[in-house]
Amino acid sequence: MDKNKFEVIRLKMERTANSLRRNNMFCECADNCEDALEIIRELLTEGDTICAGGSMTLAESGVMNMLKEGPYNFLDRDRPGITSEERKDIYTAAFSSDVFITSSNAITEKGELYNVDGNGNRVAAMIYGPKSVIVVAGYNKIVKDIKEAETRVKEIAAPANAIRLSCGTPCTESGKCMECMHENRICADTVIMSRQRVKERIKVILIGEALGY
Ligand code: SF4
Repeated sequence: MDKNKFEVIRLKMERTANSLRRNNMFCECADNCEDALEIIRELLTEGDTICAGGSMTLAESGVMNMLKEGPYNFLDRDRPGITSEERKDIYTAAFSSDVFITSSNAITEKGELYNVDGNGNRVAAMIYGPKSVIVVAGYNKIVKDIKEAETRVKEIAAPANAIRLSCGTPCTESGKCMECMHENRICADTVIMSRQRVKERIKVILIGEALGY
């Protein structure tokens, strides 16, 4: 990437990081995925029980492989052959895990995390339960404010995820939110996380690469 363009992105990441810190969240910026993995490794302890939210960012950044191959008790909800009952057990186990790792649908420059879930298991674990929550996000997830976050989800994140998961919802045909009433609607629970009471329970790693939806 052009170095001047990257500098603008880096400054936006720093601005957002400062807002997240003001909201009692830990935040580090990494120029690339390799650096981000180093930061995340430092935040983990050998033997940690770790659960993860469904996320393209975690796969693309290499975090998912690191969890699978590392010295952790990683409860993999997507392991081959897993039954739906076993997956539900992992969703529940996440609430008492040491670490929950996920991405975020959007992060505002004001320091808020904006997420919309279909099942609610991801946003529930982000809010309460796991001792530590690590949020990994590419710079493309940064938006100005909640209004832009909402637009981002309706026009990018939700339709792309609905296509990925073969939901058959109207947005998989139109490429944008149609405010559906479909049984597979993936937009059921909207959560905004702003200033936190528990300092640095939420740890955000911003990466200078475009990742996920
Ligand atoms: S509400 Fe329905 S149409 Fe809109 S993004 Fe969500 S799943 Fe797609």
